[in-house]
Amino acid sequence: MPAHASATSAAREILTRLHDVMAARTGAQAKLNRVVNIIGEAMASEVCSIYLLRDGCLELFATRGLKQEAVHVTKLALGEGLVGTIAERVETLNLDEATSHRDFVYNPETGEELYHSFAGVPIVRRERAVGVVSVQHSEPRRYAEIEIEALQTVAMVLAELIAGAGLIDESAAAGSDRESGPVRLDGLKLVEGMARGHAVFHQPRVHIDHTVAEDTELERQRVYAAFRQMREQIERITSQAEFGAAGEHLDVLATYKMFAYDEGWSRRINEAIDSGLTAEAAIERVQQRTRMRMREISDPLLADRMHDLEDLSNRLLRIVSGQLGTAAQMGLRQDSILLARNLGPAELLEYDRRRLKGVILEEGSLTAHVTIVARAMGVPVLGRVRDIRRIVAEGDPLLLDVMQGAVFVRPTAPMEEAFEGKLVIGQKRRAEFAAMRDLPPVTKDGTRVTLMINAGLRDDAAALDVTGADGIGLFRTEFQFLVSATMPQRERQQRLYRDVLDTAGDRPVIFRTVDIGGDKALPYMNQSEAHAEENPALGWRAIRLALERDGLMKAQARALIEAAAGRTLHVMFPMVSEPWEYDEARALFEAQFEWIRSRGKPLPMTIRYGTMLEVPALAESLDLLLPNLDFLSVGTNDLTQFLFAADRANPKLAERYDWLSPAILRFLARVTREAGAARVPIGVCGEMGGRTLEAMALIGIGIERLSITPAAIGPVKAMIRTLDVGALRAVMPGWLATPPRSLRGLLTEWAAKTGVNIG
Ligand code: PEP
Ligand code: MG
Repeated sequence: MPAHASATSAAREILTRLHDVMAARTGAQAKLNRVVNIIGEAMASEVCSIYLLRDGCLELFATRGLKQEAVHVTKLALGEGLVGTIAERVETLNLDEATSHRDFVYNPETGEELYHSFAGVPIVRRERAVGVVSVQHSEPRRYAEIEIEALQTVAMVLAELIAGAGLIDESAAAGSDRESGPVRLDGLKLVEGMARGHAVFHQPRVHIDHTVAEDTELERQRVYAAFRQMREQIERITSQAEFGAAGEHLDVLATYKMFAYDEGWSRRINEAIDSGLTAEAAIERVQQRTRMRMREISDPLLADRMHDLEDLSNRLLRIVSGQLGTAAQMGLRQDSILLARNLGPAELLEYDRRRLKGVILEEGSLTAHVTIVARAMGVPVLGRVRDIRRIVAEGDPLLLDVMQGAVFVRPTAPMEEAFEGKLVIGQKRRAEFAAMRDLPPVTKDGTRVTLMINAGLRDDAAALDVTGADGIGLFRTEFQFLVSATMPQRERQQRLYRDVLDTAGDRPVIFRTVDIGGDKALPYMNQSEAHAEENPALGWRAIRLALERDGLMKAQARALIEAAAGRTLHVMFPMVSEPWEYDEARALFEAQFEWIRSRGKPLPMTIRYGTMLEVPALAESLDLLLPNLDFLSVGTNDLTQFLFAADRANPKLAERYDWLSPAILRFLARVTREAGAARVPIGVCGEMGGRTLEAMALIGIGIERLSITPAAIGPVKAMIRTLDVGALRAVMPGWLATPPRSLRGLLTEWAAKTGVNIG
């Protein structure tokens, strides 16, 4: 290749000729034979060879310069020789003296002893090497960067050619051990459960069908338009901060924005288009190059950035290729385990819950709403699994074991067996819990605890019968709003509430009025109003929004009142911070009676009003509010995030503060005493109550009503039935007065000593 040629024109010359080869009606072998000649000529290289992966080995498929007898005879295992090393590591090699490289092996049948310099590039498909293309020279010299780049571009086109010709076994595509062998990845337990399935990316990778452009100018226009669209999207996301409510989101967005406008990036893509690639191939080509460069730098911060760039590059690819949908929109196969960086609750609800067996997130935290929604759907979730999208390929078999906090990727037979064994034990445990269905949750010394379930979807009410729970202690009405594409009108709301009440029969259902805003953003709500917030969890959400948008609240009040005609209606307000908010909300409900009556409809027999206690300030005014309350329910998810000033959706803080810390238990003990003195029933409906040890501690400080996720009813009931509450209440005040280093440790010890079954 002449020294003055640019990488672009070098690649362009080769690509133009390759384009003709690909379009020709000859067989695959003939095409490969022509390809090695074209590359050899264009690069003025004495040798050009193509090795393809077949039956786990890299087989010499075509060569110019080496002995033709070696074709289909020379085979190298992955990791063997220079070619095997390139494929295994998915890395380029550029050597002036091939024989002195430690991985060099000599294949006498090729006659390659004549050649000193060697450059080889992996042929990559779906991020795995499916072959290698190499060039060799007799004189010892290092190949120039532009030559390597040209070779890499050619390798991309070759990937298309050989896949199109069916020359490789796609499923046997090789990567490094880490990328193709069995791996165990650990994460944070978000929703307990086990699942077997195959990997599905929430935002699927784009498949590139054509790499060589017919019309370069057209490709350039396509990429320009895609850049414009992507930048608009990023602008929109940044200004609305709809990108999850996680604490880090601002940082992430800033980086996104920076990359989206990075001139170097768009220039490199443009150059790749100049070299004759399609818009898709150019984006991917640049991405591959960045990936390779980044791999050489082991800096965790840069790795994070890489992640962002990867995301953005995928976004650009999706736009340009028109492959925009998420896996939910495209329809799931049976037994899918969903992989994503993070998800919003509404995004998760879009999936078919019969096919969705599990979720694995790179981020995620215990009380984020997506976790709560998944729990309600009965879908196990493992969070904070690093690098999952790099290690796992679409369709890989997975065993998800949240109990162990692990996912087994491409499992071995022993992993399968161990999993199967645990599954059987799990089923046995569930059968034991099911057998306890009709036993009351009474402590050993006779305290009857009220155990209710949290729900939000129509089908959840069925869990009442399955678990034998006492009622629904928290019905999150916003779920209906989150699953809908449009604002649910009053009639639709009313139907849902009536169905739930019908299923519950004489068991109480506590309907919480909508808690939207925060990380429960509604796509159809006025965006500028709803999202222009830096701290949505502390923002315009729940009762704050509902009192202002009173049309929404009125419609809901009417729907609830109508649905509960002739029965008892329990209504609860979320995020009440000051007593007047409760008074206003209650008054708004009562103001609807007239409207109901005027339409000749019956009212509920009684309405019982309560509030969530989840904003700490309300605790300071509780004495003023208690006389007007029929019940109080502590939302420990929000309460703890506010008490500790720790974002419930921030993965970095996910494990930092313990629910069993003195601050929380003292706070709860105090409000429990106050409510008790005012004879107002108090319960807990946050996720905390669904964990056996936490539930034990809550009962220990006087809480006797818990509303928890249905799956926790069995374990919590088993705990209650083995608990001597008198003994616990005798020691708790002392522990809270002078707390030990670890209350959790002490409670665990006490449970073991006194035989409490905490699972
Ligand atoms: C809570 O905050 O504890 C609660 C139960 O409400 P949500 O999780 O829906 O915010
Ligand atoms: Mg809450």
